[in-house]
Amino acid sequence: MLFGCHLSIREGYLGAAKAAQRMNASAYQYFPKNPRSLTVKNFNQEDAEFCRDFCEEHGIFSIAHTPYPTSLTPQPEKQDPTIKSLLNDLEIANVCGSAGVVVHFGSPIRSSDPLAGYQLMIKILNKVLCQWDEPCLILLENTAGQPGSMGTTIEELVQVRSLCDYPDHWLLPGYLPCLRKRPLEWGQP
Ligand SMILES: [Zn+2]
Repeated sequence: MLFGCHLSIREGYLGAAKAAQRMNASAYQYFPKNPRSLTVKNFNQEDAEFCRDFCEEHGIFSIAHTPYPTSLTPQPEKQDPTIKSLLNDLEIANVCGSAGVVVHFGSPIRSSDPLAGYQLMIKILNKVLCQWDEPCLILLENTAGQPGSMGTTIEELVQVRSLCDYPDHWLLPGYLPCLRKRPLEWGQP
């Protein structure tokens, strides 16, 4: 089991990795760019490469988290910015040597059609993953504890993954829980 925490990239990607090492963390999570915006970041490639090398050398595991405004069920005008932002997150995290990028499960978009939210989610994920062929994965985070929301059961996570055109670019549910603050409803350790 890996233990870690969220870390800031205030001192850069390498800075976050060094902070993890200083506190003897075996893993950490970070925002690869401004957590409040979908704006694409022109990131420091060299810093990200140093981060990857440092983590490899010290056996530190990392994952990135998408900015708060990221939704897999975005309004029509937000779909392009979301796809570009997700690809940017994947690119940064990939150079940093991170295993994947955490994305929250989508939200219902029409109460009259419960499937619409899932269909939009799969469409957005396919649009991202058809442009992505590097090792860094999409890590779909459950939304346990939010009544009436999507993504509260393991079955939904597995089903959405199986319907996506690019299932190899996903990580199976059950991987992330060690980095969550809330216990999972399906009783994973
Ligand atoms: Zn999250």
